Amino acid sequence: MYDLIIVGCGPAGMSAALYAGRANKSVLILDGKSYGGQIINASLVENYPGIDNISGFDFATNLFNQIKKLGIEIKFERVIQVKRNEVITDNNNYSTKSIILATGCSYRKIGIKDEDKYLGKGLSYCATCDGNFYRDKVVAVIGGGNTALEDAIYLSNIAKCVYLIHRRDIFRGEDKYLEYIKSLSNVELILNSQLLEIIGNDVITGIKVKNNDGSIKLLDIDGLFIAIGQVPNSQCFSKNIEIDKDGYIISSDGVHTNIDGIYVAGDVRVKDLRQLTTAISDGAISATVAIKEMEDIYGK
Ligand code: NAP
Repeated sequence: MYDLIIVGCGPAGMSAALYAGRANKSVLILDGKSYGGQIINASLVENYPGIDNISGFDFATNLFNQIKKLGIEIKFERVIQVKRNEVITDNNNYSTKSIILATGCSYRKIGIKDEDKYLGKGLSYCATCDGNFYRDKVVAVIGGGNTALEDAIYLSNIAKCVYLIHRRDIFRGEDKYLEYIKSLSNVELILNSQLLEIIGNDVITGIKVKNNDGSIKLLDIDGLFIAIGQVPNSQCFSKNIEIDKDGYIISSDGVHTNIDGIYVAGDVRVKDLRQLTTAISDGAISATVAIKEMEDIYGK
């Protein structure tokens, strides 16, 4: 029986593992894909206190190496369900004293016809992963949050022209990024506009964009980057863990779920601010609470 099983190997999960490992607990991290979570795709992190700037890849890799040094066990298996003292994956059943759910979020799809068909054929949800395919080409970014703004900046260094398309004329993303974008000669803002249609055969050749006034614009593009936020990875927990209408795990104090011994950390929980700093903080707090409560029940 493990002391702690952590579901999700992103910043929140790895931070929890760091705290539990340093407290000499036996820890298993399970992740369906790989380590790093969403931050691994961030080109540059400039708002982590104490670090001037670092790539998301380096941040995640440093943290991964740090927990591996502590002897944390990591298995890449997809979790199907969690119960009070049990984690069920597509390969195994594991017994554990406590569980932390730290599965984070995934890219939100825009829900347009042919979205899946063009994935990898001109359509991407990750500019840092796929931007390099569009050297000296024309790309469009959809969205108005920090991700879309950062993607537009990143792509402006690679592509010939970047259209940044947002459904309103006010951005959710930071002014600092927006001001910089406005100074870039190869980024064109297309505001109050929504993606109407993807055009192409085997690969994307263009898009139709509809302005809120009803007018329609045809843009010839090679690459389409959709950056419209995230959805929580909580589906496999929904049988017995309380989630809200958007799928985020509910926790009255930000740590406990509705089941004793099962805790939550990071972007997958209901919270106001989803940032690297808050995910790391959640991981530390959830592990500390889990350790205290398991020692109260099982002893040191
Ligand atoms: P976000 O802040 O939720 O922004 C999503 C954007 O997509 C919004 O502008 C939204 O428009 C738009 N949108 C949503 N659904 C849409 C649809 N169906 N069609 C068209 N547009 C749609 O998401 P995010 O940019 O991924 O950022 C998530 C969190 O991570 C935020 O807290 C952000 O600050 C943080 N983040 C931080 C950094 C950094 O600090 N370096 C980098 C990236 C992300 P409306 O505004 O009209 O709703």
